[in-house]
This record gives sequence, C-alpha cells and structure tokens, in this order.
Amino acid sequence: MNECLFCRMAAGEVPADVVLETDRVLAFRDIDPQAPVHVLVIPREHHATLGALAGSDPGLLGEVVAATHAVARQEGLVGADDPEPGWRLVVNSGPAGGQVVHHVHMHVLGGRQMRWPPG
Ligand code: C5P
Repeated sequence: MNECLFCRMAAGEVPADVVLETDRVLAFRDIDPQAPVHVLVIPREHHATLGALAGSDPGLLGEVVAATHAVARQEGLVGADDPEPGWRLVVNSGPAGGQVVHHVHMHVLGGRQMRWPPG
C-alpha cells in the first residue's frame, strides 16, 4: 500500500474536502487552517519536493501554480475590486523550510491580513 498521505488522498483512499480537481491536480482544505481560507494544492502524481517536481515535470508545476490562482479566485480572494482582497502562496520545502508532508503541495492562504516575516 502507498504510505504517502497525499497520494492516498489523490487516489480517494483518504477523505479530503476537495475544492477543485483536474486529471492531474487536486485542491483540498487544510485540516488545520491557518487562515479563513487555507487550501492545499497538489499534483496527483508523487513528487517529494518543489525541486523534484520542477526537475521532472515543469509543465505539471505550471498546472499546480495555475490551480492555486483558480482556487484563490474561487474563494473570493481575487476579484474586480481595486484593490482586490489578496492572498498568499506558500511552499515549504525540506526540513528548514518546515515541510512536514513529503508530497509537494502549495498552501493558498487568505481571508485575513498576512504579516511579514513568516515564522
Ligand atoms: O508544508 P507542510 O508540509 O508543513 O504542510 C503540511 C500541511 O498538511 C499542514 O498544513 C497540515 O495541516 C496539512 N495536513 C492536512 N491533512 C492531513 C495532514 C496534514 O491538511 N491529514
């Protein structure tokens, strides 16, 4: 059995609160949200890190990034308002980057004022 949690979510073996999906990309709500909107966007195919995905399938990386923007729009974070509400895209990579789940994922965060620097 595949031990990767996000592979299992992508395969439908572990439940996920899905907000957007394509044949190659899945987006679902984070189980421990750090903002009113906190969605994770993953490639269905397993790649451990951003670097691994960029190195082996840059086209798929582009699809994941495009999906983050689609999710932000769907969640009302991008709009016609001037200024638009705004949102943040986060990728934690490797131990010092704070990556805990070793299947590359992008955090779409919004619905509150983001601060800098991050922790
Ligand atoms: O970037 P990092 O690896 O630290 O983030 C992993 C994310 O996966 C966390 O935000 C965590 O809440 C989320 N997660 C989840 N569902 C799980 C396990 C982890 O949404 N079952």
